[in-house]
Amino acid sequence: MKKSNKQRRAEIKTRRLERAAASAARLREKDVRLPQTDYAFALGCEPADRSVLERYNNTYGVLPAFYEDRPFTCRDCGAEEVWTATQQKWWYEVVHGHIDSRAARCLACRRALRERLRNAPPGANLLREQTDRLRALGDAKPTASAVAEVEAALESKWWSLRVVAIQTMARWGGEANLAKLHELMAARPEGGRRYFAWERVAADAARRALMNTERWP
Ligand SMILES: [Zn+2]
Repeated sequence: MKKSNKQRRAEIKTRRLERAAASAARLREKDVRLPQTDYAFALGCEPADRSVLERYNNTYGVLPAFYEDRPFTCRDCGAEEVWTATQQKWWYEVVHGHIDSRAARCLACRRALRERLRNAPPGANLLREQTDRLRALGDAKPTASAVAEVEAALESKWWSLRVVAIQTMARWGGEANLAKLHELMAARPEGGRRYFAWERVAADAARRALMNTERWP
């Protein structure tokens, strides 16, 4: 009976796994090297081009003379896989992957990961979205809900968002906002350990925001 492609691929994979396990066992034994003249002909082996590796790897470690099929366990699904010598040569010498980098995922899991990253939910850009939204509020007259949003942003765990809230207040102007900004400036701590305090960042942000909106008294 004719073998299907799937069967054939499975058989090839089994043979590769066996070969890789054997060569891994060989490498574990000390001082075992394939003879220079033979390694290029050995199955699952590729000679390395050290002149290429040297150009892209600033390492004190020893660069390999050849690549051998390496067995590895997929980080995501746990499948036993083989990183072939040919794939390694391509990775290190064509893509210039660092000499210490290793295969971590099987092909199916690499594809799944790429897909996940491509379809990342907008939550990944939440800070960016909130920042844009807050800035846009400064373009219009403040409504009650806009004021509430800015007040909430001033308490945000992200200081960058608090700074945008301060800028929005400066753009709105008005007695209450200007008073609040001057209050922040007055609370600026002196140097020392307080240098990285939020109060200092807030005071500087308020001063800059007022200068930019020409509301500097
Ligand atoms: Zn996998």
